[in-house]
Amino acid sequence: MVFFLKSNHYCLEMEIKLLTELIDDALHILKENKYKITKQRKSLLTYLSQYEESYVDVTVVDDYMRNQYPGMSHNTIYRNIKEFKEMGLVEQRMNGERACVKYQCDFSHKHHHHFICTSCSKVVELDSCPLGYFENQLPGYKIEEHKFELHGICDECQEKLVKN
Ligand SMILES: [Zn+2]
Ligand SMILES: [Zn+2]
Ligand SMILES: [Zn+2]
Repeated sequence: MVFFLKSNHYCLEMEIKLLTELIDDALHILKENKYKITKQRKSLLTYLSQYEESYVDVTVVDDYMRNQYPGMSHNTIYRNIKEFKEMGLVEQRMNGERACVKYQCDFSHKHHHHFICTSCSKVVELDSCPLGYFENQLPGYKIEEHKFELHGICDECQEKLVKN
């Protein structure tokens, strides 16, 4: 019984711990790349770390940062996001004309693809890459870039659709 009474509290602690670990990993990578860990970079990372399972518009991130640090320029914010992207701390994609970012799914194996739910925008990491399949169809060609993304409705959204 005690376990059940405490379970909510326990979950919250777990979440906070996981979030701290996420940020620790990122701070470690910043240090390795010889970047100074400024208050701004730390809050930017903390803010972005809540978007591990969905994308957020870069303009929303910019608004948040400008709110927290009114002296910070758009340029600095966009440059920081770009640096995070280059270090593999965040993933970026275009949603039409708008640039969106999300926190990196997995720091250890960088190359992967996503399933994106068109209903709730949840992002699921896919660990296999179809590149090899197409390389076989183009013998002698050099493929320099590829984008692959699956769109559809996630299990939870399908359940909700059935219920309604
Ligand atoms: Zn990812
Ligand atoms: Zn969904
Ligand atoms: Zn791939």
